Amino acid sequence: MSKSYYEILGVGKDASAEAIKKAYRKLAMKYHPDRNQDNPEAEERFKEAAEAYEVLSDLQKRRIYDTYGKEGLRNSGYSGPGNSEDIFSHINDLFGDLFGFGGGTRGRRRDPNAPVQGEDLRYDIRISFMEAVHGVTRQVEVTKRETCWTCEGSGARPGHKPQVCPSCHGRGQVIRSQGFFQVTTTCPHCNGAGQIITDPCNDCHGEGLVNRTKKVSIRIPAGVDTGSRMRLSGEGEGGRRGGPSGDLYVVIHVDEHEHFQRDGQTIYLRLPVSMVRAALGCEAEVPTIHGTSKLKIPAGTQSGERFVLRGEGVASLRGGGKGDMVVEVQVQTPVKLTKEQKELLREFDALSKEHEEEGFFARLFHGSLGKQKKKSEASEKVANV
Ligand SMILES: [Zn+2]
Ligand SMILES: [Zn+2]
Repeated sequence: MSKSYYEILGVGKDASAEAIKKAYRKLAMKYHPDRNQDNPEAEERFKEAAEAYEVLSDLQKRRIYDTYGKEGLRNSGYSGPGNSEDIFSHINDLFGDLFGFGGGTRGRRRDPNAPVQGEDLRYDIRISFMEAVHGVTRQVEVTKRETCWTCEGSGARPGHKPQVCPSCHGRGQVIRSQGFFQVTTTCPHCNGAGQIITDPCNDCHGEGLVNRTKKVSIRIPAGVDTGSRMRLSGEGEGGRRGGPSGDLYVVIHVDEHEHFQRDGQTIYLRLPVSMVRAALGCEAEVPTIHGTSKLKIPAGTQSGERFVLRGEGVASLRGGGKGDMVVEVQVQTPVKLTKEQKELLREFDALSKEHEEEGFFARLFHGSLGKQKKKSEASEKVANV
């Protein structure tokens, strides 16, 4: 028999909404994943508590649960918190609500006890061309300010509460008269915090945050490119006084490749082919980003001619197949010829001579160009008359 939602939160069946809130906040603090890294037991407790709170904090759900149990909730179309993202937004709501703030926790705090969400952080990462194409998981060390769990981010030594600043009464600002004007300035007594910590926490010296280096595993999917951004939810700076962590934005930079070039999902490669093979035609082995592929090069292929290998490009980030690869043939003129090779080429040249007259240059010098010249001479004459 599994525990009831009341048992999970450790409250009686007649507990008030306020008592349920308090009980959940305590458990959420205790089992928060940031505080219990690599502890699946704590994660389980955390999720369990979130589920119980979601039901018991909703009057209608609580009524259904009290009468028909979990089965009743399922039949009414309710099916527990879907993922941890939900749970976190939930905590956000809860803490906001508790201190009189609806939802959003960013911006200036008037209430010195109000939770503050951690800052978002940016992490730039450099990966190789092939890593971008195939995806890669990188372990990186991120040094950031995390919630001090000794004081739960309050900055005050456990057992001592921060005091509301007597100068500004928690507003963080004071109004001063300057002649006819009233000027609002940052409270000099509390430096705008709105509170005074009389007994600072030993671990964070009243900051509520401590510097910590954390190993973060970044799974980079296949198909990313320079400028791609990834958001790691909750991996930013730690929150204070129960506020959720910020997010970590990973910005990707991709190194160039020696041979391959890339434009989106398309890969480009210049393939050197010997003069003889280009003339006679051949089957070339082409290196691709996935391995190798065979390409049939037809007889008489010219330098600069392009061939497309379907599906040999980069996978789409959004799913839906791979791009293509464009191979540009570069015909190589032989350079270091042996005596025998030279001999053969001269022989080849002699055999080719009889066709030269039909060639391009023949047409150029004795054909159309000659005729055109005559024409232009004629038009010049007309112009001179
Ligand atoms: Zn003040
Ligand atoms: Zn502390």
